[in-house]
Amino acid sequence: MKRLALHWQILLGMVLGIVVGFVAVQLHGENFISNWIDPFGVIFINLLKLIAVPLIIASLLNGIADLKDISKLSKMGTRTILIYIVSTVLAITIGLISVNLIQPGYSIEESTRDNLLESYAGDASSRIEAAMSQKDQGPLQPLIDLIPDNIFLAATDNGSMLQVIFVVILFGIALILIDPKKAEPIKEFIGGVNEVVLKIIDMIMLGAPYGVFALMASLVVDAPSLDLFQALLWYGFTVLMGLAIMIFVIYPLAIKIFTGYSYRKFFNGISPAQLLAFSTSSSAATLPVTMERVTEHIGVDEEVSSFVLPVGATINMDGTSLYQAVAAIFIAQALSIDLTFMDQLTIVVTATLASIGSAAVPGAGMVMLVIVLSSVGIPEAGLALIFAVDRPLDMCRTIVNVTGDASVSMIVAKSLGKLGVPVRRDLKDHYKPA
Ligand code: ASP
Repeated sequence: MKRLALHWQILLGMVLGIVVGFVAVQLHGENFISNWIDPFGVIFINLLKLIAVPLIIASLLNGIADLKDISKLSKMGTRTILIYIVSTVLAITIGLISVNLIQPGYSIEESTRDNLLESYAGDASSRIEAAMSQKDQGPLQPLIDLIPDNIFLAATDNGSMLQVIFVVILFGIALILIDPKKAEPIKEFIGGVNEVVLKIIDMIMLGAPYGVFALMASLVVDAPSLDLFQALLWYGFTVLMGLAIMIFVIYPLAIKIFTGYSYRKFFNGISPAQLLAFSTSSSAATLPVTMERVTEHIGVDEEVSSFVLPVGATINMDGTSLYQAVAAIFIAQALSIDLTFMDQLTIVVTATLASIGSAAVPGAGMVMLVIVLSSVGIPEAGLALIFAVDRPLDMCRTIVNVTGDASVSMIVAKSLGKLGVPVRRDLKDHYKPA
């Protein structure tokens, strides 16, 4: 096991988890899985989540503290946001083209459709309620949300990663502006904390194959029946095809054109993060690993990755936006609602906003889909149609979300002359004094 590369170890954990899950279902051992296996998956995700905020604080501050001039920060910010918006709109366009060509909504049988609408009506309405509470906010609410009224609460569940980033940037800029002699000990302290946090991530990753094993086994036990997959086959196929185009065509091309990197090299570096995105369905939980891989295995300078990736995990969700576009049109087709070209353009805008507003946690994309549906007059209750297969599609769109963030971090780094040779550390490399 030790000699295998990390992504193979994780893949092995996933496959074994799936096999054990299937065996448990055959032997009616579902309770065993939920009592004795599932908790290890939860523990693993908690470990990843607990280190995310310290990592953002330490690495972003470490990056900013070394900045010679502050204007670089705004250059990086503008480029990041612009590329994120372009990639999201591109993803939605690919989703719209695929769903209009394949037309999965017309292939679903009427009886199956009515069955789904009835069986999942309750689940759909709870998501609709959650979305409505977000919808009734003023246009500048996101700006207000960016600034916390309490520094400490920003770093808790009530805050958000963007608030943490805001506070860190504020602190970092002030650190550059004060007397260098007074700033020096703080910088050194932050540098030390950063090293410790990175080492903790290495330690957590030792448990990744086991954590992923537990997550996959419990997913299989809870998986919907094969009949449902069959009924929604063309819908699932359309989403997956769009996601595959992003992963295998758009990102490799963008990386090649803008950084000169081969996709093979990129994939070798990022694959453990992609596998974790798949098994956790959460870009936020995957973030520490994405940051570690991009910095230490691909060569993006920490100054860039520590800003671009947490911002991306929060606002850049190419996979989610593509899925929202496909799902909206699929529901319209299945309910025989005709959408005009203008409606489809509206979907481009609302899906961009809805994906920005989606939290980086499992199932968030489906909640925000409600906003896309209501913008073009598709009944929100149509959500019930796609509910059954949402989790597997969520796992796949999260891979795209994470891969998109990593690709953009490379492109931004290259444009600022900050893409270089990766600095690899290993758990074996303990610090040895000279
Ligand atoms: N699970 C996705 C993520 O964390 C969000 C979503 O599409 O539901 O990136």
